[in-house]
Amino acid sequence: MHDLTRCVHHPAVNEEGYASLAVPTHRASTIVYKDAASFAARKYRGFDGYTYGLHGTPTTRTLEAQLTALHGGVRTVLVPSGQAAVTMVMLAVLMPGDRVLIPDHVYPPVRSFCEDYLKPRGIDYGVYDPLIGAGIADLIDETTKLVWVESPGSGTMEVQDVPAIVKAAKAKGCLVGCDNTWATPLIFKPLAHGADFACEALTKYVGGHSDLLLGSITVSDMALRQKLKELLRGFGVGISPDECQLALRGIETMGLRVAHMGRVSEDFAKRLAHSPAVETVLHPALPSCPGHEHWKRDMGRSSGVFSLVLKPVADDVLEAALTALKVFAIGASWGGTRSLIAPMAVKGDRSVVPWTKEGPVLRISIGLEDEDDLWNDLDALLIALEGRAGAAAA
Ligand SMILES: *Cc1c(COP(=O)(O)O)cnc(C)c1O
Repeated sequence: MHDLTRCVHHPAVNEEGYASLAVPTHRASTIVYKDAASFAARKYRGFDGYTYGLHGTPTTRTLEAQLTALHGGVRTVLVPSGQAAVTMVMLAVLMPGDRVLIPDHVYPPVRSFCEDYLKPRGIDYGVYDPLIGAGIADLIDETTKLVWVESPGSGTMEVQDVPAIVKAAKAKGCLVGCDNTWATPLIFKPLAHGADFACEALTKYVGGHSDLLLGSITVSDMALRQKLKELLRGFGVGISPDECQLALRGIETMGLRVAHMGRVSEDFAKRLAHSPAVETVLHPALPSCPGHEHWKRDMGRSSGVFSLVLKPVADDVLEAALTALKVFAIGASWGGTRSLIAPMAVKGDRSVVPWTKEGPVLRISIGLEDEDDLWNDLDALLIALEGRAGAAAA
């Protein structure tokens, strides 16, 4: 063998006795076959076999299997982002002439996708009150093929009656997909409540370190998995094993991170409710949060994201107070180790249940910093708002 050939033929090494706790990162485009007959028969390997790196490697399969186990499903399909998890479900099950129902508090890019992509292609959508519960039955006509739920809603935190919605949808032969990003499968398992698709933005709590983008769709029906995989193959959508390796590392500590963030977020939510600058606290664990009774019945535990509705305050006062924060970072994509705060534009995103609160909404994501440092930061923010609000009123 000459050197040039040696350069592209890696030597086989002894792996006996090598046992590591880390999941290896298997990167691949081409998959090679032991003989010509195996190559000719490759299409029979199906989506559980290995045929092309785009369709999966042992690293991506490990993450899929872990999410499947956590959700109690039969298969998980990985996609490049949480947004893709939602849109791929819609594209996989909706045909021209069909209709999907989305909640008024839905992750805003999902509403835009329905309006700007689905609607011009003949797929209609309806928007419903997130707290509609069994009343969803009245909105389901013969063209409605999918009901989307997101519980709690990212931003205003309404907790949906998922079991009641599933029951009504199933009675009419409708599929149900659930965006479960806030709860993670550790707090809520949508498939156990009858949903057909459990979607996660792995970007958030699974990744956990603000450095990866990934989404997942877990199903309990092999036919739905087949549909999703065929769609992804058609679009040529795949994910990087490196991202999966980071997600696999993140998932190991997710339980502790989410438990800690949930405890601190509940504690802060209760304390913040007493602040004169706060109109109301939207945290699923508080009775002041719409749908709190569903949280109590179906979840009982929290993650780290909740919102504050402030009393009306001038824009420049709020901006200055946010800019003065020392520990919280200003940003949207939550679930990492750093605590975040973000003003939310709720009013323009509502079409069914008008948002009547006058003051600004701040979404808070609790991270892993020292609790006292976080509290002092929030306290300084609220004192700045109170002081200015008082001065303006005088
Ligand atoms: C962040 C988020 C998404 C989108 O996830 P990306 O990975 O950022 O695309 C979808 N749904 C919810 C509830 C989210 O919080």
